[in-house]
Amino acid sequence: MKPKNNLAIELTESEQKEIGFLAERVNPKGKTKAAYNAEMRKRNKASFAFNKKRATNIGVTHYVWRSTGDSDVCEVCKANDGKVFAYSENPEHGHAGCGNCKTNGYCRCYDEPILPE
Ligand SMILES: [Zn+2]
Ligand SMILES: [Zn+2]
Repeated sequence: MKPKNNLAIELTESEQKEIGFLAERVNPKGKTKAAYNAEMRKRNKASFAFNKKRATNIGVTHYVWRSTGDSDVCEVCKANDGKVFAYSENPEHGHAGCGNCKTNGYCRCYDEPILPE
């Protein structure tokens, strides 16, 4: 079987139910900053959980931590950027995008699954 080099394949119906809400943008209007950040943290956590499930389903065990690389990236994420993490481990500040590093905002990092050769 030829490995897929892109996980952005079509979602099944149950996957759509699971993470379909991620397709809708969060409107910051009428929300406090804290409420907006909380919503974004929740979404990023769901997104990571979904990526993890999908990746580990096809045998992926590790990912590369990717940060957005702008000036708003926190020290933790800056240090983790480009490093390899196992989906099975529990990094001190949480996984990429899970926001445990940045208590006054939300983490915009994401996991880039390392696909089998
Ligand atoms: Zn961070
Ligand atoms: Zn981050």
